[in-house]
Amino acid sequence: MIIYKTDEEIELLRHSNLIVSKTHAEVAKHIRPGIQTLALDKIAEEFIRDNNAIPGFKGYRGFPFTLCMSVNEEVVHGFPTKRELKSGDILSIDCGTIANGFYGDSAYTYAVGEIAPKVKKLLQVTKEALYKGIEQAKVGNRMGDISSAIQEHSQGRHGFGVVQEMVGHGVGRELHEKPEVPNYGRRNTGVKLKKGLVIAIEPMINLGKRHIEQMEDGWTIVTKDRKPSAHFEHTIAIVGEKADILSTFRYTEESIKKNKELTEV
Ligand code: MG
Ligand code: MG
Repeated sequence: MIIYKTDEEIELLRHSNLIVSKTHAEVAKHIRPGIQTLALDKIAEEFIRDNNAIPGFKGYRGFPFTLCMSVNEEVVHGFPTKRELKSGDILSIDCGTIANGFYGDSAYTYAVGEIAPKVKKLLQVTKEALYKGIEQAKVGNRMGDISSAIQEHSQGRHGFGVVQEMVGHGVGRELHEKPEVPNYGRRNTGVKLKKGLVIAIEPMINLGKRHIEQMEDGWTIVTKDRKPSAHFEHTIAIVGEKADILSTFRYTEESIKKNKELTEV
């Protein structure tokens, strides 16, 4: 069952997603070669709690941390660790919060130090693909319009691998609600997009082939060919002709601009 949100509920979702977005911005101030991703996780948890919210992922189906931290060939659901980042790494951070009973969910892939041009292209294309999908997120369209726009841009136009096993989702009082939001599909197929639908759109795009596997920790997803993967995610509301984007990259991109240890993409 799809749960459509009222205008009031969308405002609550906006608030939770704003905390997620500002958490990204806070963490982005501290990303640099030499830092452990576990240290970034602590910064995020403190920031979220200081903002009267709860880390949305911690304890979710037993996930032990505040952030999902996925480095290079890790696609999603990686654990923060004592491993130190180094120049040339890409770090996908996925952050979730709960505020006033509603979830926020947004992901961004950061370029640590100087990264290879083809990897930078992967990040740019993945972010572009997210916005191509969002452009299709309007009343009267179907889910397949979002999915195919993402696939067309990242795979069709640029030849990257589109992860199929992991998908976006509805967002509300639950982190993962109906419907699924695949990053591949055909135009004019799937559920009709109606006013009040709130979804997380989250392309996971691989430099190489699309295939993935799960590590023995039971969480971390990696590319089968061990080539890098990027992940960008917004939570959006379907409201009319143009989606209402509830999370924002504005703050984190301000932090990236000021942080000399990060490359803008
Ligand atoms: Mg997420
Ligand atoms: Mg999500």
